[in-house]
Amino acid sequence: MKVIRLFEGKERSLLKQHPWVFAGSIQRGKADPGETVRVEAHDGRFLAWGAYSPQSTIRVRAWSFTESERIDAAFFARRVQQAVALRARLAVPSDAVRLVHGEADGLPGLVVDRYADTLSAQFLFAGTERWKSVIADALLAATGLQRLYERSDVGVRALEGLPEHTGWLRGGGDTQLTIREHDWQLLVDVAQGHKTGTYLDQRDNRRHFAQAVRHYGCAEVLNCYSYTGGFSLAALAGGAQRVTSVDSSAPALALARQHVQINGFDGTRHDTLDADVNATLRAQLEQGRRYDAIVLDPPKFAPTAAQAERASRAYKDINRLALKLLRPGGLLFTFSCSGGIGPELFHKIVAGAGIDAGVDALILQRLAAACDHPTTLYFPESDYLTGLALLVR
Ligand code: SAH
Repeated sequence: MKVIRLFEGKERSLLKQHPWVFAGSIQRGKADPGETVRVEAHDGRFLAWGAYSPQSTIRVRAWSFTESERIDAAFFARRVQQAVALRARLAVPSDAVRLVHGEADGLPGLVVDRYADTLSAQFLFAGTERWKSVIADALLAATGLQRLYERSDVGVRALEGLPEHTGWLRGGGDTQLTIREHDWQLLVDVAQGHKTGTYLDQRDNRRHFAQAVRHYGCAEVLNCYSYTGGFSLAALAGGAQRVTSVDSSAPALALARQHVQINGFDGTRHDTLDADVNATLRAQLEQGRRYDAIVLDPPKFAPTAAQAERASRAYKDINRLALKLLRPGGLLFTFSCSGGIGPELFHKIVAGAGIDAGVDALILQRLAAACDHPTTLYFPESDYLTGLALLVR
């Protein structure tokens, strides 16, 4: 067993059950990509079992803080089983559920979503890459399913020196399927869709939006960065008269139109606009358009803290424009999924946007990812999605 010895004082985060060891904390020790290592404090005390990643600045990710635990197939079977059992207790109102949320489920660098009878997974670091086949078997055993698609086409793999990879890991067949979320049906393609197929993290917020649209009687709704129209369905379900989905992806908008149709909503109440959101907001403001509710759910403007400043300006800009486009009494559901922007900073950015727009608003609700994407006490980094539901005065 290879040993990684840390510098004095660098044991603190592992002692607080935070699973990352940065390269600069390591005094000595090396291993192959994904190999299990014993991490020790400067005095030889056991800290954790982890997987070594020679190319990444996160040099080790911990599997376990228990010295007697063995990292073997049975270990992965147990962790996967625990993650799956937790989802059963959470009673998610959908047959599409995040089953494994990486570090928050004790499985660093592993994301697994279930879409009806199909699993879709991302293996994001050397450790999960090395145990891929064992993990795949554990997932099928814990869920009783037969099909697992790999979506390891993610930029972060490059930081690990791993090539991107996609395709069936277990089973095969059609990658297009239908899922149920709340009362709606959604089409998901695990090979073509964003992330592992679609954005399950916004499930609860789509329901909150439907309820708010109904409660506040919002007639005209603008859904910005709509992707396949999840929030547009929510607006229609909430009784909106006219909903516009804006996105720069034509295939996503085609699916949004299909979603309106297969869910039995009147297609004349829904429009799509294949355009840049920022330019659209500016143009509509110039034309004097106004809305009763707006959703802003942009892609990650700041994947890391280093890009937070430039991203802050981009968030502020779209929020300022959206606040100006709302009628008095209007509703804004605004989000950031940037790991580098926490809830507090996001609040500050949106407050700045309000000042510039000359609009005051009250916070109806603070929004986050659905609970099958858990944030744990010891790993705050899992709290990436933050949002505010605002009611303009
Ligand atoms: N709200 C969606 C998820 C949004 S993901 C849901 O609930 O499912 C972000 C979306 O922003 C993607 O669909 C992407 O195509 C789109 N996008 C990225 N940059 C854009 C831009 N500048 N203008 C318009 N859409 C953009």
